[in-house]
Amino acid sequence: MAECEHIRVGREFLESVSWPSAFRQEAHDRCYCERCYPPHLRDTMDVANYTYVIPRGWTRFAISVDEGFFNHHNVWDKWLNCYHGTSIDSAKSCLEHRQLLLPNDTTMHGKKLEIREGHIKGEHYVFTTPSITYAALDYYAHTYHFQSPYNSQIYTIKVVLQCKQKPDSIIVQPETVDARRQGIKICRYIPNDKLEWKTQHRSTVTIYGLLLEVKQYHVHNHSNSFQYQQIRNTQNVSYEPVTISQTPSPPPPPPFKTKVSTLSNSENISSPTPEKTHREPMSKKRIALLILLVIATILPISALIFGQIYKNDCPIQPWIPRWMTIFGAVGLATFGLLFIILLITFKSCSDDINIGGCISGCVSCLLVFFFLGWLITGSVWVFPAKSKVQYNQYNDTNYCQENLYKFTFGLLLAQYSLIGLVICCGGILALLGLCLG
Ligand SMILES: [Zn+2]
Repeated sequence: MAECEHIRVGREFLESVSWPSAFRQEAHDRCYCERCYPPHLRDTMDVANYTYVIPRGWTRFAISVDEGFFNHHNVWDKWLNCYHGTSIDSAKSCLEHRQLLLPNDTTMHGKKLEIREGHIKGEHYVFTTPSITYAALDYYAHTYHFQSPYNSQIYTIKVVLQCKQKPDSIIVQPETVDARRQGIKICRYIPNDKLEWKTQHRSTVTIYGLLLEVKQYHVHNHSNSFQYQQIRNTQNVSYEPVTISQTPSPPPPPPFKTKVSTLSNSENISSPTPEKTHREPMSKKRIALLILLVIATILPISALIFGQIYKNDCPIQPWIPRWMTIFGAVGLATFGLLFIILLITFKSCSDDINIGGCISGCVSCLLVFFFLGWLITGSVWVFPAKSKVQYNQYNDTNYCQENLYKFTFGLLLAQYSLIGLVICCGGILALLGLCLG
């Protein structure tokens, strides 16, 4: 199974910005892209009696935590999950300081932190949010353009830190991007008036992951119908001067870094499900596949029914109803198995797919041989009887129930046509492949 594109591109991006490997904890990486975290899985979880909004569409690159600290404060169980949208340089600085610093703090490099340009003065807090959608707003999370060295595809990448926060240290306040006045609900799960958390207790926010939202870059992403009017924004502290001087040499090739001020805002806010456009075609494909499977199942069911109803009604060749019964039963079992494999495959893109793929590989080989053999056997029983069969004299030896015989006959012909079609399509595809080189 190929590695998820989001994980691969995220890793390439982190390499390109010299993300400190000493703090990486790959074992706890987790991708919430549509493939790795399918739509049917839950959107929220209850963590420490609070709603943890799963960062759908994002990929976590885990950061090692201070285990003594986590055990002592029972952080995993008792602290809340939250997000902090930021730039990659600030994220790196937070990582190196092992915490989010407050305005007026002095970094380990001697730089006094100031509140960023355009953000409200005098608010000396660390700001976080329980909503990934809110953290992902462009005021907070920077967007980078990144060209993958692997396939030269350009991606947009957003940066958010994933943190744990001590519940009793949080001051909860409404969003500060004017969404309420404009009648916009930012997050599906957290009300607008509870979107911002702030604290002055510096060590009560601890980082455990860097989240990247990796999207293929398309020009139309830029067209934007809606822009927030920012009235108050106090979240970010400027770390950039420190980290820029920290970077020894620009990585080759440096990511084309731009803050795209409006990119994807409208997507996240106007539709309750981010990445909706991405998800729909997949779901349709799945539904179509399932419907096709259900329709295809009608055939073996009818064969089974015919075989059973007329099991004694074909003296000319008693094996015809038996042939139908066995064909129906095996066909039904095959579709059942296919259905289960499809469900497993849809459920997760991790190891299960390999299991599903392996099972389906072995079993489908056996089944193809069975059906081919059974088709030939059926032909031997059905076709020679064609010239002698009659449908009226029940007691005669050349009688066969009309529907049974004709249905079996048709079924055999249909299978030969299908095989012919598959061979033709294969031939055409092979020819096309040759022509296109
Ligand atoms: Zn993924």
